[in-house]
Amino acid sequence: MSQIDVVKENLIGLNRPELSETLIRLGVPKSKLKMRVEQLWNWIYVRGCRDFWDMSNLAKEFRDLLAQNLTLEVPDCKVRKISVDGTRKYLFKGDNGHEFETVYIPEEGRGTLCVSSQVGCTLNCTFCHTGTQAWVRNLTIAEIVGQIMAVRDDLNEWPKEGSTYKSEQRLISNVVLMGMGEPLYNFENVRDAMKIVMDGDGLSISRRRITLSTAGVVPGIKRAGEEIGCRLAISFHATTDEIRDKIVPINRKWNIATLLDALRNYPRVTNSDRITFEYVMLKNLNDSDEDAHRLVSLIRNIPSKVNLIPFNSWPGSNFERSTPERIANFAQIIYNSGYPSPVRTPRGEDIMAACGQLKSETERLRRKPVSVK
Ligand code: SAH
Repeated sequence: MSQIDVVKENLIGLNRPELSETLIRLGVPKSKLKMRVEQLWNWIYVRGCRDFWDMSNLAKEFRDLLAQNLTLEVPDCKVRKISVDGTRKYLFKGDNGHEFETVYIPEEGRGTLCVSSQVGCTLNCTFCHTGTQAWVRNLTIAEIVGQIMAVRDDLNEWPKEGSTYKSEQRLISNVVLMGMGEPLYNFENVRDAMKIVMDGDGLSISRRRITLSTAGVVPGIKRAGEEIGCRLAISFHATTDEIRDKIVPINRKWNIATLLDALRNYPRVTNSDRITFEYVMLKNLNDSDEDAHRLVSLIRNIPSKVNLIPFNSWPGSNFERSTPERIANFAQIIYNSGYPSPVRTPRGEDIMAACGQLKSETERLRRKPVSVK
């Protein structure tokens, strides 16, 4: 057990009160606590500092104390792939060597980071590659916040000393919880991570630039509205329970009517904070004109937009993408009914970074203890 004694506490992922407690344990006097927390917070989340020795406004002895007892660790990037369209996919290694993926999507005037919340997924949506990977574990707060920090490192996006910048100029201006996993099944860690990400004196990404995507974990939807306050996207994908039961199996637990009820009551729904309905276009399965009309009547009275996602194929998948004409007709019906209906251009397909293509090799945690040489 002596090994555990030497494990240094990772400061990344702690909120301010937790950071205070840690500093109290290290003997920081109460009178200096607030200042020390602010200094550290600034170094970590404004400047992206990862080495206590670089924190030049702290006394040498204090830096030494920090370095001996604490660390600043973000997930390790094992592989980075860059698509011809500029999309970047990162394979990260977190605690225990578990792997997960993050995707950076640069666009005109903005850049979106697609963040994972779990290693693997429990949901088994039949058209999703991640769904074929067994659920392994929830990501920690540090691993969730750390994805943003590590990609900022890679993009060299930490502001130089003394400079500030506006959200619109940022490389990572938006965050979507649309990577591996179901964020509402890792609620506390996702919430606490997003609170750090939204902190105005830190990473400072506003709640309106954060979108949490769920397949429809109804009890979590209300909590997300109350406790996170970010935008919401729903992986809807079908207009009848019969089809949705098959392709998004969580529908058997919370069906379409129950889900829509939760959305009508989502505390944040206004016209400027609309809900996004994601709808994967699957040939001859959910892409008919009747589906489009049904979709519109289901979401009526919910301020929303519909994101149409052409199905992205992966090895072993049994679905086909709808034709461009079908997608265009479908989009037109929704648009004519008064809802924006953009068709999402697949990004990073050549590096398997598009929606639903993420998967890591990490399989379910083995019961066997890891052998130590
Ligand atoms: N579990 C959450 C977060 C994942 S978001 C959720 O379901 O919302 C990833 C989005 O990509 C979801 O809308 C998902 O349904 C969609 N998706 C999954 N597989 C896809 C595929 N092969 N092609 C296109 N979109 C896919």
